[in-house]
Amino acid sequence: MKKYCEECGRDVETKVISRKETYEVCGERIEVDAKVLVCAGCGEEFFCEELDNATLVKAYNEYRRRHKLLFPDEIKKIRVQYGFSQRSFAKLLNWGDKTVHRYENGSIQDKAHNSLLLFLRNPENMRIYLTENEVMLDDNQKEKLLKTVDKLEQDSEYHAGNKLVNLFFSEMPSVENGFKPFDYEKFCAMVLFFAKKSAGLLKVKLLKLLNYSDFVFYRENGISISGARYVHLPYGPVPKNYDLLFGMMEADEIAHIEVEFDNGYEKHQVIPDSEISEGVLSESELSVLERIYEKFADFGSAEISNYSHREKGYTSTKQGEVISYSFAKDIRLD
Ligand SMILES: [Zn+2]
Repeated sequence: MKKYCEECGRDVETKVISRKETYEVCGERIEVDAKVLVCAGCGEEFFCEELDNATLVKAYNEYRRRHKLLFPDEIKKIRVQYGFSQRSFAKLLNWGDKTVHRYENGSIQDKAHNSLLLFLRNPENMRIYLTENEVMLDDNQKEKLLKTVDKLEQDSEYHAGNKLVNLFFSEMPSVENGFKPFDYEKFCAMVLFFAKKSAGLLKVKLLKLLNYSDFVFYRENGISISGARYVHLPYGPVPKNYDLLFGMMEADEIAHIEVEFDNGYEKHQVIPDSEISEGVLSESELSVLERIYEKFADFGSAEISNYSHREKGYTSTKQGEVISYSFAKDIRLD
């Protein structure tokens, strides 16, 4: 695309460059990789609405990630599952007419609004909301909504998913999860970090790397990275219900396990299927993952298993028991 450059005094070729820019979102400074259109000759910057908008959306999304806010399409999904228009959904929630419309189009939602939406994502909660609040729906609309809620609850897929989610996400912070409710996004990012670093990474080894990362980070920061609980299994400490987690990751196209046969032995390899979402892991979390990776880079599955068997958290617990993060202080890495 040619543009007229004031500096060069003629029509010039343009190019798109990347640079760090800081935006203020809801009073918070957010740094993003911005794409900027410049003159290929002198580097003079041109205004480009599409690129500016894209950068702004990036900054907003980073803010949402940091504050665990629903994304616009997630808000829309919640509304649509109940069959509401934007206006009638806003009415149900006692919000201003345009509020839902604004959120679905990219405005950052109020934190209290976000909590209510998260709560109402679950159809059972919608029933509670309807009985405990004065809602501005007429009887007809109310009846229709309750029918939709019934239908959603009967949906077996929803039930299965819900059960799975409750298994992980409804846990209070405690010493068993490193004082952090399980964070699926961070867990996935950790898996991707290790799977991308070492091609052919075996599942058995990965499970140990996750354990060491969470425990070492906990020892240094008083909180775990993923909030996963680790249990004592014959081949070492592993994330509780890791098989279900891997099923979820496969369904979400984040990573999957590939089984290979090697001299009659099954080898379970971890294959990454996506990129690590930007900003999910903090600098300090990444630096711990890097250290754990380096420490065990030359260890095979059997070696790291044997190594982890000597940890006090492992020797002090029985088969199937949760290994408390209080054992993190006893971890030896040299
Ligand atoms: Zn120029």
